[in-house]
Amino acid sequence: MAKKIAFTFDDGPNTSVTPQVISLFEEYGGKCTFFLIGQNINEESAKIAKEASQKGFELENHSFTHTAMTELSDEALMKELDDTDALIEKICGKKPVFFRPPYIAYDSESFKKTDKTFICGIGCNDWDENVSVETRVEEVLSYSDDGVIVLLHDSYYNQKTVDALKQILPVLADRGYEFVTLLELFENKGIELTANNGIIYSRL
Ligand SMILES: [Zn+2]
Repeated sequence: MAKKIAFTFDDGPNTSVTPQVISLFEEYGGKCTFFLIGQNINEESAKIAKEASQKGFELENHSFTHTAMTELSDEALMKELDDTDALIEKICGKKPVFFRPPYIAYDSESFKKTDKTFICGIGCNDWDENVSVETRVEEVLSYSDDGVIVLLHDSYYNQKTVDALKQILPVLADRGYEFVTLLELFENKGIELTANNGIIYSRL
């Protein structure tokens, strides 16, 4: 059976980097998951997200204002999640089931505040423009493994991650990996989505 890896992208959607990420995965017959920030969804970026969803890519929740959830009141947090859910549901007709806390800031109480499954993933500090394309490629390839969740950013300025993907995806495809969405990875590994289980997943 092919090895599965789930690439995930935070901080979109936008019209500059998000469409390039989508095209690259399409080249390899693969999919990935986008964790959207509610306030980044506008008329133009929503079109890109909708197109992605129609092609089988997954849209999930990364809050509305990208504020650390540990700094929000329960009411404010709920509003962040609900407002973003509503926008995503309007785009793709499906309510997000996964949440990635901004800055991966959370505590044991955080899990009780939503029924979503928490996702972290393994990154390469690709939000930092000083991290070179070569370093991004080397790091992602070094930890790629069956069941790994890769955490990258499709921020509007992040051309370096697009350039890194152009080198990463062919290598992993050659190594026999299939690029799947988070839901596909959970299904493939037989792991049920459970609310409030105190787990934030980085690999399955
Ligand atoms: Zn983020």
